[in-house]
Amino acid sequence: MAKVRVYNDNVFDHEEKFRGDIVKIPAKGFVEMEREDAVLFKSQFTSPKFGGDGVQEMESYKMIRLAPIENQAPDVPVNSDHICMVCGFEAKSKSGLLAHARAQHKEQMIDDEE
Ligand SMILES: [Zn+2]
Repeated sequence: MAKVRVYNDNVFDHEEKFRGDIVKIPAKGFVEMEREDAVLFKSQFTSPKFGGDGVQEMESYKMIRLAPIENQAPDVPVNSDHICMVCGFEAKSKSGLLAHARAQHKEQMIDDEE
């Protein structure tokens, strides 16, 4: 099953009970969940809290957004700073690696303008 990121767009931490557990998402942060769970979590109703002036407190706003996880990097131990992730070619420098990737793996390249 594919996981997605569940973002909390609020400036306050979000804490909510979900399936018997407390899910805590830091302010402007995210947690990762199975897509199915994430959709349920997002649509789950939370009771708003109101301050003394009758205005809903910012803390109780549920500002949840789902996003796909990009660049799911495989768990490959890296022995060198300049090893090609595609074919294992070992370059002597970062620029050498970039040159190799541009020449050999143009399609897989994600532009890295560093
Ligand atoms: Zn390569």
